[in-house]
Amino acid sequence: MPFFSNQGVRYFQFENFPSSIIHAVFTRQGGISPAPWDSLNTGGSVGDSPANVRENRIRAFDALGRKPESLFDLWQVHGTRAIFVSEPRSADSHEDKGDLIFTDNPEITLYMRFADCTPLLFSDETRGIVGIAHAGWQGTVKGVAIAAINAMREHYGSKPENIQAAIGPSIGVDHYEVGDDVIAQVRESFGKESEFLLPKYDKRRHFDMRKANELQLKQVGVTQIEIANLCTACHLEDWYSHRAENGKTGRFGALIALKG
Ligand SMILES: [Zn+2]
Repeated sequence: MPFFSNQGVRYFQFENFPSSIIHAVFTRQGGISPAPWDSLNTGGSVGDSPANVRENRIRAFDALGRKPESLFDLWQVHGTRAIFVSEPRSADSHEDKGDLIFTDNPEITLYMRFADCTPLLFSDETRGIVGIAHAGWQGTVKGVAIAAINAMREHYGSKPENIQAAIGPSIGVDHYEVGDDVIAQVRESFGKESEFLLPKYDKRRHFDMRKANELQLKQVGVTQIEIANLCTACHLEDWYSHRAENGKTGRFGALIALKG
C-alpha cells in the first residue's frame, strides 16, 4: 500500500491519479493532539482544543506543500449537496453545509474529515477539475457518489468515462455491523443489490459501504475506480474509527488540489 511520510506526517496516496493533482488521505500520525485524539486530529467538534486542530492542519498541509490559507472545507452533514468553489474560504467566514466539493482553481485545496465514513476523491483531467465527497452510511444510501458524478457532468460538462474516482480508507465490512434501520434503508436504496451489500457475519448483518459506493459509481458510468482496501477499525494505529473507539476519537483529513 502506498504510504508516505513527511516531517512525521504519514499519509496514504492512490496510485492512479494523474500527476497534475495533489492528494492525500492523512493517517492520525504526526500531530500534537493528546489521547483520545492522538495525534493528527483535524476535527474541530470532537472535544480537542482549537489550537491543536489548527496546528495539525498546518502540519498536514505543510507535508503536501499546500498553503493552509488555500483551504476550503465544509460543515459535513451526511447529505448530497454539492458546492462548487472558485475562491478559498476566508478564515472568518462560516463553513457551508454540504458533503461534496469541487474546484477548477489550483489555488484551492479541498479538505474533508473522516472517522469510518468513506472518502471519495475525484479527478477529471480533461476538464481540470478535482473533487472530494463524504460518504457515510447515510450519504451512501442517499447516493452521494451518484450526486458527485451528476454534479461534475452538470456543472463542468465532465464525461463519466473521463472521471477518475477513488474510494478511501473507511470502516470495512468486517467491522461494520448494522441494525434494522440501516438495513431497511440500504434495501430501499439498492433494491436487489442490497443482499450482497449486507452480508451476514455470524447471523448479523454488516454493510459493505465501499462496495456500495463502487456500485453507484459504476451505475453512472465511471470505469476508473481505485479502492483502498483499508479498514479504519482494523488499523487504529493509522486511522480514527468512530465505531472501534466508541465515539471518543478524532478525525483524519483528506485533501485534493490541482497543481498550479
Ligand atoms: Zn476491519
